[in-house]
Amino acid sequence: MSTLAIEVTGLTKRYDNLTAVAGATFSVPRGAICGFVGPNGAGKTTTIRMLLGLIAPTSGSANVLGQSIADPEKYLAFVGALIEGPAFYPALTGAENLRVLATLGGFPTQRVEELITQVGLAGRGNDKYKTYSLGMKQRLGIAAALLPNPALLILDEPTNGLDPEGIQEVRDLLKKLASEGTTVFVSSHLLSEIEIISEHIVMLRKGEVVFAGPIEELLMNQKPTIIVRTENPNDLEKIATIATAEGHKVSIRGGEAHIEGPHDWAAILNKKAFEAGITLAQLTPTLPNLEETFFEMTGGK
Ligand code: ADP
Repeated sequence: MSTLAIEVTGLTKRYDNLTAVAGATFSVPRGAICGFVGPNGAGKTTTIRMLLGLIAPTSGSANVLGQSIADPEKYLAFVGALIEGPAFYPALTGAENLRVLATLGGFPTQRVEELITQVGLAGRGNDKYKTYSLGMKQRLGIAAALLPNPALLILDEPTNGLDPEGIQEVRDLLKKLASEGTTVFVSSHLLSEIEIISEHIVMLRKGEVVFAGPIEELLMNQKPTIIVRTENPNDLEKIATIATAEGHKVSIRGGEAHIEGPHDWAAILNKKAFEAGITLAQLTPTLPNLEETFFEMTGGK
């Protein structure tokens, strides 16, 4: 048995002139929670659709649970998926909705109660779907994806539109499922929603994979940064020019210059600013957090 739940090689999807996914290569080990992150339009849903055999790639290949995506019938029985909002009947209860889906899908209806409990809806399973909060609706969607008792769960933006409490509920549920042995591949346009629970990250930018691997590796790749504010905001550009001339990468955001460079360069910059007649209001050597690294790597927000 392959130790990889997902293995993607040079996967590409073109729509007319637009390349939605451009030669993506990454893998997801079995048993992991893997976050699939990138700004809106980066190509996450398109990749997921290819992994589920819903659309065919233009070129490249991928294996899911050791089987080629050219033969989805060989693995789909072991994969649970939630893409786009699931269609439930508003006037039926959560449990009734799951029973309908189980019957349609040929899955045992006996598991419905167990699944309701598993996703934290015990006590609410007999309430109508239309009375559920968004977080509860999303968890019922995950329960539906769990009907086949899948080895791999693929979720597209399961926290989209949820309030912080709902996001926390979904996070806790995914952590629990992973601890019970399910591989979870979960997409989000917000790294902050994923980094807390993921051991693995695949980062997508304009259809290209910009990072794939363990989150610790991403942290190790972080470059030390010096954050500068000037007393006169108009001097910020001058600081950027000085740093760029010395070979340092600079980005200006939120009234701050973020300058890549070793921490001891801060003293040199301070001296150069003084010589140029610029008064600094702040000079802070730091390591960017993951959110900033994500911003740098994906150009997203
Ligand atoms: P994400 O899920 O990361 O937000 P998508 O995979 O939905 O990104 O979209 C990637 C790009 O492909 C976008 O520019 C989108 O407009 C385009 N796209 C997606 N599906 C189609 C389609 N069926 N036809 C044409 N363009 C599409």
